[in-house]
Amino acid sequence: METLKNMIDQEHEQVVFCYDKSSGLKAIIAIHNTILGPALGGLRLWPYACEKDALFDVLRLSRGMTYKNAAAGLNLGGGKAVILGDPSIKSEALYRAFGRNVQSLGGRYVTAEDVNTSTEDIMQIREETNYVTGLPETAGGGGNPSPITAIGTLEGIKISVLRRLGAASLKGITVAVQGVGHVGEHLCELLHEEGAGLIVSDIDPRAVQKMVKQYSATGVEHEQIYAVDADVFAPCALGAVINEQTIPQFKFTVVAGAANNQLLDENKHGILLKEKNILYAPDYIINAGGVINCYYELIQEYSRDSVIKKVKNIYQTLETIFQIAEEQNIATHQAAAHFAEKRIETIGNLQRTYLGD
Ligand code: NAD
Repeated sequence: METLKNMIDQEHEQVVFCYDKSSGLKAIIAIHNTILGPALGGLRLWPYACEKDALFDVLRLSRGMTYKNAAAGLNLGGGKAVILGDPSIKSEALYRAFGRNVQSLGGRYVTAEDVNTSTEDIMQIREETNYVTGLPETAGGGGNPSPITAIGTLEGIKISVLRRLGAASLKGITVAVQGVGHVGEHLCELLHEEGAGLIVSDIDPRAVQKMVKQYSATGVEHEQIYAVDADVFAPCALGAVINEQTIPQFKFTVVAGAANNQLLDENKHGILLKEKNILYAPDYIINAGGVINCYYELIQEYSRDSVIKKVKNIYQTLETIFQIAEEQNIATHQAAAHFAEKRIETIGNLQRTYLGD
């Protein structure tokens, strides 16, 4: 894989390869775009088969963060970092070595937790750099973002249902939730409170049973979720679940859930949903609660109540995106990209004025 060519193709600003002999750290930090502010995105620890796979992943994910942060209205650019390694072998030295690399970028990149990294790991990184967010509540941070992500997802489901079904309330609406882990479980609780009916699936049968017991959900085998009779499909487990195999099974009229990278092929499957008249709430818009939580932890004294208010704006953001899609007769994922690009362009074109020392 030619690194520079890939950077040019996807318009990355900077890609940093990090190695530390004593800790064994092998990492890549990708800064995609800093027009709106420092590049924020989580640190993923993953046993990549080869360097090429790691580079492909970090370039793709950092670009995605530019769009997610811009569309959420945050003064943040997009970045991401990956450590190439075995998630079962973590050490203070590894994270501190990574932290030194983050520090060396002088704030151009801010790290946070992601797949296989925890708030405890972030605390070790913080020994070497202040450019971290997503700290535990005990350290003045926002703590677990999942309940916040679920609140934003609920708002996204509400506006999608209003738009597509004309229903001003979720009472009597059936939602199929795929994956009832950290976000999915909270989402089920909120949906139940709103009077929605629930159909749930998870590869862990105990997680399903819990939802059946607590929220009178109907549990189904995990592959059956795509064909159930429900108004809304809320993917809250894996990516790539919207594809050629699953779309023909859908009886849903709305897809609105928290999982990242739901469309296997962005363009193909986003357009296929539009053609089937299924309203898709773009994943990086509806699941932005976690990053909004991180941003407000970074810029001010953390207050959960004020973060929740900001997260509820996901409702208005999606409403705007649905409007753009309708007016321009384009798919909603395309409208979301236009919306994010417009904000980067508008802010990027502001006249530079001398602000003094
Ligand atoms: P999690 O690991 O806590 O939960 C995922 C759940 O999905 C687990 O219960 C798992 O058993 C289940 N699952 C796995 N494969 C499945 C399958 N084939 N069918 C049904 N269930 C399956 O993760 P989470 O933190 O709840 O995140 C869920 C999704 O939301 C992920 O895609 C994540 O990237 C995304 N997301 C999470 C946050 C957050 O704040 N946690 C923020 C933004 C996006």
